[in-house]
Formats: sequence, structure tokens, C-alpha cells
Amino acid sequence: MLLGCIADDLTGATDLALTLTRGGMRTVQVMGVPDDPARYAEFDAVVIALKSRTNPVDEAIEWSLKSCDVLIGAGARQIIFKYCSTFDSTDKGNIGPVAEALMKKLGGDLAVVCPAFPTNKRTIFQGHLFVGDMLLSDSPMKDHPLTPMRDSNLVNVMQRQTSLKTGLVSYDSVDQGPDAIKAAFEGAKSRGESFVVIDAISDRHLMSIGEAIADHKLITGGSGIALGLPENYARQGLLNKSDATKPMQAKAGRSLILSGSCSEATRGQVAKAVLAGMPALRVDALDLAAGKTSPKELVTFATEQEGDGPVLIYSSDTPDVVATVQEQLGREAAGSIVENALSETAQTLVKKGFTRIIVAGGETSGAVVNGLGVNAIEIGPEIDPGVPWTRSLDDDGLVLALKSGNFGAEDFFMKAWDKLA
Ligand code: ADP
Repeated sequence: MLLGCIADDLTGATDLALTLTRGGMRTVQVMGVPDDPARYAEFDAVVIALKSRTNPVDEAIEWSLKSCDVLIGAGARQIIFKYCSTFDSTDKGNIGPVAEALMKKLGGDLAVVCPAFPTNKRTIFQGHLFVGDMLLSDSPMKDHPLTPMRDSNLVNVMQRQTSLKTGLVSYDSVDQGPDAIKAAFEGAKSRGESFVVIDAISDRHLMSIGEAIADHKLITGGSGIALGLPENYARQGLLNKSDATKPMQAKAGRSLILSGSCSEATRGQVAKAVLAGMPALRVDALDLAAGKTSPKELVTFATEQEGDGPVLIYSSDTPDVVATVQEQLGREAAGSIVENALSETAQTLVKKGFTRIIVAGGETSGAVVNGLGVNAIEIGPEIDPGVPWTRSLDDDGLVLALKSGNFGAEDFFMKAWDKLA
């Protein structure tokens, strides 16, 4: 293992894992602190997905340090602490306290703080974080229910969260390339700074920063901070880059799509598949609640379909239908009734020989993955931006594509299968 990563949430972990995979690193994502890290020794990078963005600070520190121990014990040479590209946190944490605890544990003398993700329009200039053409503090993040971000100056935001001194490496150095960045690091150290917010407005900047932090023990940032790292390892002869576009090996078996997302993109994907003649069953949330239909019927429908093609089961519906359902059942109850039904359906169908599954919807994916008892996934080829095929390490050969509702092109449910072998 070359690189150990600690992510403060699940989808952020996948984002980082995908970046590393695209860079040619064989990457595995693990849900929570693993107790058997030796299992992942064959991977170049391990990303541990925690739920530590908004939980109590002490708990976030404890989980992160435990993760760090496990990763270093398994041979990681560098640790990335991954947080959101909008620096989601409060003055109490959890970014600053976790970064500080990791810094002390790893014994490094300087770490970058870089949530920049130019592809998604998150850029840093003179220490200020921009979301598109807006300062972070003017963006919708100012009203986030848990982590409202009302100060765009990341040096100040970080300094309020840590007792270690925080400085800035600005655009003028970053734009000149790795040597100038390293010189700026030396300046920061001579001023007694332990953290430096570092400007980046393009992927070229992130590549330069990546090269300059080749010997940093701790790296903190968004997924963008990992862009330049695979190249460092390759340059040092440590990484034999794998081909990230290669199809993923999947066990023979039937294909299933479970869609619990009601987002516009997913509804378009469902409509396209239905129009193309894919066997499809619409699940009515009210019927589920009233016991008029159940996972048993969903399973029967799937197993009765002839041929090898994928079978689609969906509860995806329009906003007005969802509103009616929520009025009658309550928002949370409606959500969990559908999630539980799809999760139970997945569990039974896997036992009946379905080995390739697409799940549409973030919450829906969480429920299905939990139900299937999947603790670790290997990241494979990207189907559409942000959505890779993954393979469970807990079930021999089961492959999963976990699609956030709004992601993917209209033909996602049809074309995804081509990336499997
Ligand atoms: P997305 O990624 O699009 O946000 P999620 O799976 O995270 O999708 O969220 C969709 C939520 O809507 C889930 O809790 C799901 O159970 C619920 N849901 C799905 N279909 C319906 C429906 N027909 N009526 C009401 N709620 C639904």
C-alpha cells in the first residue's frame, strides 16, 4: 500500500477513490475502520469512508486516528485526510481538530489545506474559496443546515479550528510550479506554520502541488489534492499504473437495476430504459405501505424475466406523486419503506443469482449496500462522470454501480453493462 486515505463521508470517499483509480492506482474503499487491513495489502490505495463530518469532535478524532493507525500499520507512506470541496465544518471542527490530531500522530512538520476542485468549480485564490463565480460565503453553503459556511477566507476558518499556526501559499508561488511551491513551504515553516492553505484554480496547479507534496506525511484536502499523487509514485518506481478504463471482471449472472431516486436525471434514465423495452416494474410506495405489494412480488417479477438482459425495478416518480405519498405516509416513513423494500429485494435476488446491480439514489444505495453486508468495494472503470463500477470484496464477484440520483447520462442503464467483463 502506498497511500492511505481517511474521508469524512461516504460519497466523498468514492469521489477520492475514483480520482486515484483514474490516476492508475488500484484502489479499494472500505466502509468504516477496517479490522483486517491485511486484506487490502494488494491495493495501491485504501480509502476509509467515515461518517465524521458533523459528529462530536472527540469521536471524529478517535475514528480518524484509529483509521490512521490501521493504514500506517498496513504500509501506507502518506495519509490523505479528505473533506468536502466546500470545506464543510464549523468553528468547532471537525476539519481542524482532526487534521491537528493526525499531524501530531504522524509527526509531520507541514501539511497543505486544499479543498480546491476546479472541475467542479471550487477554486482557491489568495486563500479565499470560490464556488463558481461566488465566494463560498455568498454561495448556497451559507445556509447549510449543519455546516453553514459564512467566511470564505480559509486561513481564518482553519485557524479558528486549530491551535497550530495556519498560513497561506498563494497563487504567485503555485503558478510558478513545484520548485516555487517548495520554497514557499520552507518560508511557511520558518514562520512556524504547520498548516498552509494553498491556492489552486486549475488542475495544472493541483498537479504542481501534488509534485511538491511528494514527501509530506499528511495531506489534507478535497479529492482534487490527489490528482498529482499517482504520478509521484510512478516517478519513484513504486507504482505500476493500472489501466483505469479496462472492463471490470464480474461473475456470470443476471443483471438488475434498482432505482429509488426520484431526481430528474434518474427519471429520464428510467423512461429511456422502459422505452427501449427493458423489462421493468414500477413499485408504488403507497401499495408497499398498505401491504398490497411486497419484496416477494418484486423478486418474482425479476426471476420470471427470460433472457440475460437487465431487469429494472423502480419507485422513481414525479415530484407531485412523491409529494402525495409523503403527505400520506410522512417523508421519512415513505423513504424508509421504499429503501427497505429495495434492499430486501436485492438481498433475495443476489441469493438467486443476480451478480451485477445498479442502484440509483444515494440513500437507496446506502440501504442496499448495508442490506447486502458489503464492507469494502474495489473501484473499477467509470461509467459516467462520478459513477464507477465497483466490486464487493465481501461477496465473491458481486459488482455494484452506486449512482447518485442526479448523475449519469440518459442511456446510463443501457450502456453501463459494456464496462463489465
Ligand atoms: P437521490 O440520490 O436522487 O437523492 P436517494 O435514494 O438519496 O436519491 O433519495 C430518494 C428517497 O426517496 C429515498 O429515501 C427513497 O426511498 C424515496 N423514494 C423513492 N421513491 C419514492 C416514492 N415513489 N415516493 C416517496 N418517496 C420515494
